[in-house]
Amino acid sequence: MNKQTNQHCFVALGSNLGDSRAYLDKAVRALREHPQIEKLQVSPYYQSKPHGPQDQPDYMNAAVSFDTSLAPEALLDELQKIENDNQRVRAGVIRWGARTLDLDLLFYADEVIQSKRLSVPHPRICERIFVLLPLRDLGAALKKVNHNTIEECIAALPPSAFREIKPL
Ligand code: ATP
Ligand code: MG
Ligand code: MG
Repeated sequence: MNKQTNQHCFVALGSNLGDSRAYLDKAVRALREHPQIEKLQVSPYYQSKPHGPQDQPDYMNAAVSFDTSLAPEALLDELQKIENDNQRVRAGVIRWGARTLDLDLLFYADEVIQSKRLSVPHPRICERIFVLLPLRDLGAALKKVNHNTIEECIAALPPSAFREIKPL
């Protein structure tokens, strides 16, 4: 595929340390201002219970979609740079523990990528209500992850999942 052409991408945003709304706002702004990112759209923000360790604050989550001429790993570099610019600490932290900012690449067009640094589509989309609802808000309900659409993933969630998230 010619990487000079724009590819439609979806990225998940999450934060549960410090001023989470400000971190999400800053990440959205950084992406919107990037010279190789166009047509950025933002979902509503949600408040959600943590997955993984429970002894951490609630999360604020959202998703964005945009067109980019960045190749997948170059886009990951940009996402990690924005995380690092926002006090994201990596070394020695607990898996899925609290963080100021997490930016995960959910979809890169319809590409399937398995490399040392990237799994795309992101492997845990279908079980995460805090990713599925913002994706649906962005018009991705019929997008496929493995063999299921986003809408089918939402329909398969247990009712308890819907009690753990609310739009802000
Ligand atoms: P999860 O991926 O389950 O949401 P996490 O976001 O807490 O966990 P991180 O610590 O942010 O995980 O990232 C760990 C590594 O995951 C990164 O160094 C990155 O190389 C890799 N990674 C693989 N696929 C992706 C992806 N689609 N988006 C972002 N990072 C990815
Ligand atoms: Mg993550
Ligand atoms: Mg991450």
